[in-house]
Amino acid sequence: MSLTVVGSMAFDALETPFGKTDKIVGGAATYISLSASYFVKPVNVVSVVGGDFDQDHIQLMHQLDINTEGVQVKENEKSFFWSGRYFNDMNSRETLVTELNVLGDFDPIIPASYQGCEYLMLGNLAPQVQRTVIERLTERPKLVVMDTMNFWMDIALDELKQTLKLVDVLSINDEEARQLSGEYSLVKAAKVIMEMGPQCLIIKKGEHGALLFHEEKVFFAPALPLEEVFDPTGAGDTFAGGFIGYLASTGDTSFDNMKRAVIYGSALASFCVEKFGTERLKTLTQDEIENRVQQFVNLVQFDAELR
Ligand code: AMP
Repeated sequence: MSLTVVGSMAFDALETPFGKTDKIVGGAATYISLSASYFVKPVNVVSVVGGDFDQDHIQLMHQLDINTEGVQVKENEKSFFWSGRYFNDMNSRETLVTELNVLGDFDPIIPASYQGCEYLMLGNLAPQVQRTVIERLTERPKLVVMDTMNFWMDIALDELKQTLKLVDVLSINDEEARQLSGEYSLVKAAKVIMEMGPQCLIIKKGEHGALLFHEEKVFFAPALPLEEVFDPTGAGDTFAGGFIGYLASTGDTSFDNMKRAVIYGSALASFCVEKFGTERLKTLTQDEIENRVQQFVNLVQFDAELR
């Protein structure tokens, strides 16, 4: 099953209570494609970088069968740069710097070899660019999943709402769900957001897990209780990559299979936070992933005799 991923490829500078990094490779499409590559091959990426981007990282993507034909390189420009600082609870962060650079006028090109893809992951990016990608596909994919963030709700809400009408699943965090819907209750927020377009909604709650909504149904997946969360950057994107990667590898978009996909996404995200940046995602094995999924199963399994 073919998967196309669109999103930022970036340099990030991060500050967590455990330390600081100078510019390291990040970006939504980076995390999503690394994560999804453990489920489907190839993963086709659409993005843009400057001449300053890390060539070793592109090589690594190729080793993992991530196709970068759709990644434009603007030799004389700078890559997207984002800097964030985490608070002590590691669940909330503030953005210190967003320099769009090459993303500022990004005009996505879809290579012919990507056409006909069955699964499309719209990673965090300007909503009008996300929409352009859908419009430039000659056939509508079987499933379109979209991620976004408060930054776009603040500066491009109308475009965001236009794009939302075209997608099947939206993945956002709890704060963003409240901002987008104007409702504090996540159940009410989900209803409001699903009326905007997506049939399914995933609300991520950091260390408190994730909720999957569809019609009147709701499914809860915990986050794995970890002794140490080193760096949460990219956890949401890694989750999305695992989610759509699992769906694409099974070819089943039913609600029941989406529940499993949420667990696989959560398992991949639990690896991501163990090290800075993309470090932990580079060396995963299938055994490690399956063992982690088993830990999720054990975490929520219990017997109850209903009276
Ligand atoms: P996450 O922690 O899953 O929300 O994703 C963090 C990643 O999102 C970082 O690697 C950033 O480079 C990227 N990012 C942050 N802000 C934006 C933005 N406005 N547009 C696109 N990507 C962004």
